Amino acid sequence: MSKVLVLAEQQGGKVAKATLNAITAAKAIAQKTGGSFEIAIAGNGVDGAAAELAGYGAAAIHQLEHAALAQYTAQAYAQAFAQAAKASGATFVVATATAIGKDVTPRVAARLDAGMASDVVGIEGEGAALVYKRPMWAGNVIGKVKINTPVKVLTVRGTDFGAAAPAGGSSPISKLAAQIDAGALRMKYVGLEAVKSERPALTEASVVVSGGRGLKDASNFKLVEQLADTLGGAVGASRAIVDAGWVPNDWQVGQTGKVVAPKLYIAVGISGAIQHLAGMTGSKTIVAINKDPDAPIFSVADYGLVADLFEAVPELTRRIAARKG
Ligand SMILES: Cc1cc2nc3c(=O)[nH]c(=O)nc-3n(C[C@H](O)[C@H](O)[C@H](O)COP(=O)(O)OP(=O)(O)OC[C@H]3O[C@@H](n4cnc5c(N)ncnc54)[C@H](O)[C@@H]3O)c2cc1C
Repeated sequence: MSKVLVLAEQQGGKVAKATLNAITAAKAIAQKTGGSFEIAIAGNGVDGAAAELAGYGAAAIHQLEHAALAQYTAQAYAQAFAQAAKASGATFVVATATAIGKDVTPRVAARLDAGMASDVVGIEGEGAALVYKRPMWAGNVIGKVKINTPVKVLTVRGTDFGAAAPAGGSSPISKLAAQIDAGALRMKYVGLEAVKSERPALTEASVVVSGGRGLKDASNFKLVEQLADTLGGAVGASRAIVDAGWVPNDWQVGQTGKVVAPKLYIAVGISGAIQHLAGMTGSKTIVAINKDPDAPIFSVADYGLVADLFEAVPELTRRIAARKG
């Protein structure tokens, strides 16, 4: 019988929302393989996060505590998570493909001698022979892979596995002292320079308004920000304007930026290069504003406005603001 272990993420003792997507994937694997799922959480004083995770229907919560886990570093967390995987007898280890998930899981896989599939967007099959679907070449091809090792490690794309809802009940929590080999730690946490924003996080927002080179100049990006703020959304950008230094690089959407899947994605003055599409075609409704009727962005748009953005965007912002009263 399979046992699926979710690697939970926490920041400042609070469970990261992205963990709920890994829980959904873990439940699907447990169901397909006739097994159960458990959750591992690591940190230094994370009773609150463990208690929160206990409401999602897991068979057990493994809470690993150590002073070296007070702040995330890949080496310390990989040691703790591998310990949890061994202690629980996990046959599958699943994390969401966030910056932390992508950073820690290969190290966990190496410690478990496990094969790994990253950025999984779908799981096919039943029983022992599961097949994992993952995008390749900027999402132009979906590869199907199998993992043949006894323990299998996966990262899943949050945009393709919905957030798990609380299941009621309370999973048993086993609190363990993590065994950290301090001599093997060659990374040290120095500090976090977090970008503070009133806007929702790009990967969690239900509305994203992104701007591209059609804006002509950095000073015009405010048109995108005003529309996003009127809709209570996040702002994104094409790589062209990130590379030009108009906006911070953590606003980039696409193959080498963030993958987003909001309810509404509005692309302003973005041509729709395949590398940009790789980051936003999972959006529920896509609106494109571009003056070129042949721009590739229109091939993925649900609503396309062939217009000059300098007229259309301020008008749209004005009308939405007026409707909101
Ligand atoms: C390895 C690699 C990785 C990459 N990763 C990414 C990535 O993650 N994300 C990403 O975005 N790109 C990525 N790129 C770059 C990508 O190929 C494109 O160069 C980039 O997306 C183009 O950005 P853009 O659409 O803003 O600019 P352009 O392609 O120059 O498009 C500007 C658009 O604005 C329109 N426009 C101009 N004036 C107006 C106006 N007044 N009103 C309305 N519309 C107007 C034009 O018709 C045009 O369609 C990557 C490239 C490579 C090689």
